[in-house]
Amino acid sequence: MKIAAVHTHVLDHELDTAFESASMHFKRRQHCLVEIVCDDGTVGWGECLGPALLNAAVVQAYATGLIGRDPLETEKLWLELYNRLRDQGQRGLTVTALSGIDIALWDIKGKRFGVPVSTLLGGRFRDSVKAYATGSFRREGVDRVNDIAHEVAGYRDEGFHAVKIKIGFDVEEDLRVIEAVREAIGPGMRLMIDANHGYDYLEAVEVGKRAARFGVDWFEEPVLPEHLSAYRAVRADQPIPVAGGETWHGRYAMLEPLTTRAVDVVQPDICGVGGFSEMRRVADMAALHGVRLVPHVWGTAVCIAASLQFMAAMLPNPPRRDPIEPILEFDRTDNPFRQAVVKTPLEHRHGVVSIPDGPGLGIEIERDALARYALKEA
Ligand SMILES: [Mg+2]
Repeated sequence: MKIAAVHTHVLDHELDTAFESASMHFKRRQHCLVEIVCDDGTVGWGECLGPALLNAAVVQAYATGLIGRDPLETEKLWLELYNRLRDQGQRGLTVTALSGIDIALWDIKGKRFGVPVSTLLGGRFRDSVKAYATGSFRREGVDRVNDIAHEVAGYRDEGFHAVKIKIGFDVEEDLRVIEAVREAIGPGMRLMIDANHGYDYLEAVEVGKRAARFGVDWFEEPVLPEHLSAYRAVRADQPIPVAGGETWHGRYAMLEPLTTRAVDVVQPDICGVGGFSEMRRVADMAALHGVRLVPHVWGTAVCIAASLQFMAAMLPNPPRRDPIEPILEFDRTDNPFRQAVVKTPLEHRHGVVSIPDGPGLGIEIERDALARYALKEA
């Protein structure tokens, strides 16, 4: 079996209502899928985290190194592609693009042997995971406190055990949002806060000290991802556990945060950190340092499926099941192609998502949806 072609699919949808985190304004949803076709007809799928058109361009730049090669040689190919752009790209789009390729190669490998990727990774410790709802971005033209309180009550009613809300805009308003959310969801639901690196150290410590009484599981991306000493100071100077890692792509980017304990919870994204091959290494690094790993997930069903396959095979740490099982980040924001790209949507049932057990990622792509949501050239 040899690789015959590498295709990228940039999906695009203009939102009816724009929304924003502290660092990103979303008027459109755009994601890049990677399709690798083998000469025997086997097709593998992957996805890249981040700017879709730029990821697609880097995947195409890598493609010449893949044609005619054995798709089962995932480590060799990963290293060769990484080496191509290593001198100018150790941690950014070069690694997010490589992630989509690596995931597609593992999908092919699973299909070649007729087993899910989780089996190739060593076996499944679980067949389903609890999901937490990610939403509550800021929307224009609405009362933010009431809007988000109403939204999270909906997640509670759907059966989610946990919710993550967006802060990082304004300390006083963010604290009013956190208080209203806790009141709306009641005492039994877990709550996480995500500043998307919108604060500086002083603001983050202020929010952490005052938000702790509302029962917050983790405080995600309190400060800029490059400011690791600020991360460590926030962790030391306020009581909520600190999370981060969705922008630290590759094992080298993860090294200092883990060895210097900048976070209590590390959040690599399989579509950004380097695919299954690198996610495994990062998981080992996190385990060696006793840092909890909860994957970041922000993409289509391809990204969700890859994350689920990895989570199925994550070692229990400590070796018991609840309550420190890996939990799945489940994006609830508007994205009509998120589940449309697969024939069987990866939906939750009362806040629990089953892990597919078919070959590879365990999904089948709905090509009509790829055509429907394909980016139209300007
Ligand atoms: Mg985040």
